Amino acid sequence: MTRWFPNGMPQPMANKESLPFWQAAAKHKLVVQRCNQCEHMQLPPSPICSECRCDDTHFHEVSGRGEVYTYTTVHRPIAIDQKVPFVVAVITLEGAGGVRMISNIVEIEPEELEIGMPVRVAWEDMSDDLAIPRFKRA
Ligand SMILES: [Zn+2]
Repeated sequence: MTRWFPNGMPQPMANKESLPFWQAAAKHKLVVQRCNQCEHMQLPPSPICSECRCDDTHFHEVSGRGEVYTYTTVHRPIAIDQKVPFVVAVITLEGAGGVRMISNIVEIEPEELEIGMPVRVAWEDMSDDLAIPRFKRA
């Protein structure tokens, strides 16, 4: 069942595979799933390694640094009281074997953004057990 933030945005929901990611996030640690057999790293988490198909994986903490792979600027709000414009970006995570994640770039004017810009994670605490990884200029 979806839970909602007061502004009308859906809250992230953990499942069996993603729970360790969200538990680490609550402690402001950014992790990716890493295979114990072939060392492949992946996100989002999966029951099996997408490279070798084994189910022997663990969660590996990464630095939280990365760079902007691509981005778009959103000018229409999708929730009540949402500030626009905001930036949705694909970020290549440092030391994560090429893993990219989708998030927001915060504390920047959209016209200042560039592909390849170094960024670092900026945790947004939503509650005692939920923190969302956003990114800002490194
Ligand atoms: Zn593997």
